[in-house]
Amino acid sequence: MQRLGLFGGSFDPVHLGHLLVAQAAREELALTRLYFIPAAQSPFKPERTPTPAQERLRLLRLALAGKDWCEIDDQEIKRGGISYTIDTVRDYAARFGNTQLFYLIGADHVAQLPKWREAGELAHLLEFLVIPRPGQHDVPFPVPFRGRALAGFPLGVSSSQIRARVKAGLAIDHLVPAAVAEAIRNNRLYL
Ligand code: ATP
Repeated sequence: MQRLGLFGGSFDPVHLGHLLVAQAAREELALTRLYFIPAAQSPFKPERTPTPAQERLRLLRLALAGKDWCEIDDQEIKRGGISYTIDTVRDYAARFGNTQLFYLIGADHVAQLPKWREAGELAHLLEFLVIPRPGQHDVPFPVPFRGRALAGFPLGVSSSQIRARVKAGLAIDHLVPAAVAEAIRNNRLYL
Protein backbone atom coordinates (compact mmCIF):
# COMPACT_ATOMS: atom_id res chain seq x y z
CA MET A 1 0.00 0.00 0.00
CA GLN A 2 1.44 3.38 -0.87
CA ARG A 3 1.77 6.03 1.80
CA LEU A 4 1.27 9.66 0.84
CA GLY A 5 2.03 12.72 2.94
CA LEU A 6 0.00 15.91 2.63
CA PHE A 7 1.56 19.13 3.88
CA GLY A 8 -0.78 22.12 3.85
CA GLY A 9 0.14 25.63 4.92
CA SER A 10 0.54 29.22 3.82
CA PHE A 11 4.21 28.76 2.88
CA ASP A 12 4.64 32.53 2.98
CA PRO A 13 7.55 31.91 2.59
CA VAL A 14 8.57 28.24 2.68
CA HIS A 15 11.52 27.85 5.09
CA LEU A 16 14.01 25.32 6.44
CA GLY A 17 11.57 24.28 9.20
CA HIS A 18 9.16 23.04 6.51
CA LEU A 19 11.95 21.20 4.66
CA LEU A 20 13.30 19.56 7.80
CA VAL A 21 9.83 18.29 8.63
CA ALA A 22 9.34 17.00 5.10
CA GLN A 23 12.55 14.98 5.23
CA ALA A 24 11.80 13.60 8.71
CA ALA A 25 8.27 12.59 7.70
CA ARG A 26 9.52 10.84 4.60
CA GLU A 27 12.13 8.87 6.53
CA GLU A 28 10.05 8.02 9.62
CA LEU A 29 6.94 6.92 7.71
CA ALA A 30 8.56 5.67 4.52
CA LEU A 31 6.34 7.98 2.48
CA THR A 32 6.12 7.35 -1.23
CA ARG A 33 5.50 11.03 -1.98
CA LEU A 34 4.90 14.25 -0.09
CA TYR A 35 2.59 16.92 -1.47
CA PHE A 36 3.08 20.57 -0.49
CA ILE A 37 -0.35 22.19 -0.72
CA PRO A 38 -0.26 25.98 -0.38
CA ALA A 39 -3.55 27.48 0.83
CA ALA A 40 -5.33 30.24 -1.08
CA GLN A 41 -6.42 31.73 2.24
CA SER A 42 -5.86 29.90 5.52
CA PRO A 43 -8.97 29.60 7.72
CA PHE A 44 -6.65 30.18 10.70
CA LYS A 45 -5.24 33.49 9.50
CA PRO A 46 -8.30 35.49 8.36
CA GLU A 47 -6.66 38.78 9.30
CA ARG A 48 -3.69 38.28 6.98
CA THR A 49 -3.75 38.70 3.20
CA PRO A 50 -1.21 36.18 1.91
CA THR A 51 1.49 37.11 -0.58
CA PRO A 52 0.17 36.47 -4.13
CA ALA A 53 0.05 32.74 -4.84
CA GLN A 54 2.37 32.96 -7.87
CA GLU A 55 5.18 34.32 -5.66
CA ARG A 56 4.65 31.66 -2.96
CA LEU A 57 4.61 28.97 -5.64
CA ARG A 58 7.81 30.31 -7.17
CA LEU A 59 9.57 30.08 -3.79
CA LEU A 60 8.23 26.56 -3.23
CA ARG A 61 9.50 25.45 -6.65
CA LEU A 62 12.96 26.82 -5.84
CA ALA A 63 12.98 25.19 -2.39
CA LEU A 64 11.92 21.78 -3.71
CA ALA A 65 14.05 21.69 -6.86
CA GLY A 66 15.70 18.29 -7.17
CA LYS A 67 13.58 16.60 -4.51
CA ASP A 68 11.78 14.19 -6.77
CA TRP A 69 9.69 12.72 -3.93
CA CYS A 70 8.13 16.15 -3.27
CA GLU A 71 5.35 17.61 -5.34
CA ILE A 72 3.55 20.95 -5.31
CA ASP A 73 -0.24 20.70 -5.53
CA ASP A 74 -1.93 24.01 -6.38
CA GLN A 75 -5.53 22.79 -6.09
CA GLU A 76 -6.34 25.08 -3.14
CA ILE A 77 -4.94 28.07 -5.03
CA LYS A 78 -7.03 27.13 -8.08
CA ARG A 79 -10.20 26.70 -6.00
CA GLY A 80 -9.61 30.10 -4.38
CA GLY A 81 -11.44 31.40 -1.32
CA ILE A 82 -10.82 29.96 2.13
CA SER A 83 -8.98 26.66 1.88
CA TYR A 84 -10.57 23.90 3.92
CA THR A 85 -8.52 20.76 4.45
CA ILE A 86 -11.52 18.44 4.05
CA ASP A 87 -12.04 19.54 0.40
CA THR A 88 -8.44 18.72 -0.43
CA VAL A 89 -8.37 15.44 1.48
CA ARG A 90 -11.58 14.26 -0.24
CA ASP A 91 -9.89 14.88 -3.57
CA TYR A 92 -6.90 12.69 -2.56
CA ALA A 93 -9.13 9.96 -1.12
CA ALA A 94 -11.09 9.89 -4.40
CA ARG A 95 -8.02 9.89 -6.66
CA PHE A 96 -5.87 7.37 -4.79
CA GLY A 97 -7.38 4.04 -3.86
CA ASN A 98 -5.60 1.62 -1.51
CA THR A 99 -3.46 4.42 -0.10
CA GLN A 100 -2.66 5.52 3.42
CA LEU A 101 -2.90 9.29 3.79
CA PHE A 102 -0.96 11.26 6.40
CA TYR A 103 -1.57 14.96 7.03
CA LEU A 104 1.25 16.98 8.58
CA ILE A 105 0.36 19.63 11.15
CA GLY A 106 2.33 21.70 13.62
CA ALA A 107 1.82 20.86 17.28
CA ASP A 108 0.19 24.30 17.60
CA HIS A 109 -2.87 22.99 15.67
CA VAL A 110 -3.64 19.71 17.47
CA ALA A 111 -5.95 21.02 20.19
CA GLN A 112 -8.06 22.84 17.57
CA LEU A 113 -8.62 19.80 15.33
CA PRO A 114 -12.24 19.20 16.48
CA LYS A 115 -13.09 22.67 15.16
CA TRP A 116 -11.85 21.95 11.65
CA ARG A 117 -14.59 21.77 9.04
CA GLU A 118 -16.22 18.31 8.86
CA ALA A 119 -13.88 17.07 11.57
CA GLY A 120 -15.49 13.61 11.82
CA GLU A 121 -15.08 12.88 8.12
CA LEU A 122 -11.54 14.23 8.16
CA ALA A 123 -10.61 11.99 11.11
CA HIS A 124 -11.98 9.00 9.20
CA LEU A 125 -10.03 9.70 6.01
CA LEU A 126 -6.51 10.11 7.33
CA GLU A 127 -3.99 10.00 10.11
CA PHE A 128 -2.28 13.15 11.38
CA LEU A 129 1.42 13.51 11.78
CA VAL A 130 2.35 16.04 14.40
CA ILE A 131 5.39 18.19 14.04
CA PRO A 132 6.96 19.35 17.30
CA ARG A 133 7.28 23.12 17.59
CA PRO A 134 9.28 25.01 20.19
CA GLY A 135 7.31 25.98 23.29
CA GLN A 136 4.60 23.48 22.45
CA HIS A 137 4.08 20.59 24.88
CA ASP A 138 2.67 17.22 23.90
CA VAL A 139 -1.06 17.71 23.43
CA PRO A 140 -3.28 14.62 23.68
CA PHE A 141 -4.98 13.73 20.42
CA PRO A 142 -8.66 14.71 20.55
CA VAL A 143 -11.15 11.92 19.80
CA PRO A 144 -11.83 10.70 17.08
CA PHE A 145 -8.58 11.81 15.44
CA ARG A 146 -5.74 9.40 14.85
CA GLY A 147 -2.21 10.67 14.91
CA ARG A 148 1.37 10.20 15.84
CA ALA A 149 4.19 12.59 16.58
CA LEU A 150 7.26 12.95 14.44
CA ALA A 151 10.46 12.40 16.37
CA GLY A 152 13.19 14.96 16.03
CA PHE A 153 13.86 18.30 17.57
CA PRO A 154 11.70 21.37 17.12
CA LEU A 155 13.20 24.09 14.97
CA GLY A 156 12.40 27.68 15.92
CA VAL A 157 11.75 28.99 12.43
CA SER A 158 8.49 30.49 11.21
CA SER A 159 7.33 32.37 8.14
CA SER A 160 6.18 35.32 10.27
CA GLN A 161 9.66 35.58 11.78
CA ILE A 162 11.16 35.61 8.27
CA ARG A 163 8.75 38.32 7.05
CA ALA A 164 9.59 40.44 10.10
CA ARG A 165 13.33 39.99 9.57
CA VAL A 166 13.13 41.01 5.87
CA LYS A 167 11.14 44.09 6.85
CA ALA A 168 13.74 44.97 9.50
CA GLY A 169 16.60 44.49 7.00
CA LEU A 170 17.99 41.46 8.87
CA ALA A 171 19.58 38.39 7.26
CA ILE A 172 17.41 35.35 6.42
CA ASP A 173 20.03 33.27 4.63
CA HIS A 174 20.29 30.84 7.56
CA LEU A 175 16.50 30.26 7.60
CA VAL A 176 15.59 29.51 3.97
CA PRO A 177 17.38 27.74 1.08
CA ALA A 178 19.82 30.04 -0.76
CA ALA A 179 17.67 30.17 -3.90
CA VAL A 180 14.64 31.24 -1.86
CA ALA A 181 16.58 34.02 -0.11
CA GLU A 182 17.79 35.25 -3.49
CA ALA A 183 14.28 35.22 -5.02
CA ILE A 184 12.87 37.10 -2.01
CA ARG A 185 15.56 39.78 -2.53
CA ASN A 186 15.16 39.95 -6.32
CA ASN A 187 11.38 40.19 -6.20
CA ARG A 188 11.40 42.63 -3.28
CA LEU A 189 9.02 40.46 -1.22
CA TYR A 190 8.08 41.19 2.41
CA LEU A 191 9.52 44.73 2.45
P1 ATP B 1 3.43 31.83 10.09
O1 ATP B 1 4.64 32.17 10.90
O2 ATP B 1 3.12 32.81 9.01
O3 ATP B 1 2.22 31.49 10.94
P2 ATP B 1 4.45 29.11 9.64
O4 ATP B 1 5.92 29.25 9.69
O5 ATP B 1 3.74 28.50 10.82
O6 ATP B 1 3.76 30.50 9.26
P3 ATP B 1 2.82 27.69 7.64
O7 ATP B 1 3.06 27.74 6.18
O8 ATP B 1 1.59 28.26 8.16
O9 ATP B 1 4.16 28.30 8.31
O10 ATP B 1 3.03 26.21 8.17
C1 ATP B 1 2.52 25.05 7.54
C2 ATP B 1 2.61 23.93 8.55
O11 ATP B 1 3.98 23.73 8.94
C3 ATP B 1 1.83 24.22 9.84
O12 ATP B 1 1.18 23.02 10.23
C4 ATP B 1 2.90 24.63 10.81
O13 ATP B 1 2.53 24.36 12.15
C5 ATP B 1 4.10 23.80 10.35
N1 ATP B 1 5.40 24.46 10.62
C6 ATP B 1 5.83 25.66 10.21
N2 ATP B 1 7.07 25.95 10.66
C7 ATP B 1 7.48 24.88 11.38
C8 ATP B 1 8.68 24.55 12.11
N3 ATP B 1 9.71 25.37 12.21
N4 ATP B 1 8.73 23.36 12.74
C9 ATP B 1 7.69 22.53 12.66
N5 ATP B 1 6.53 22.77 11.99
C10 ATP B 1 6.41 23.93 11.35
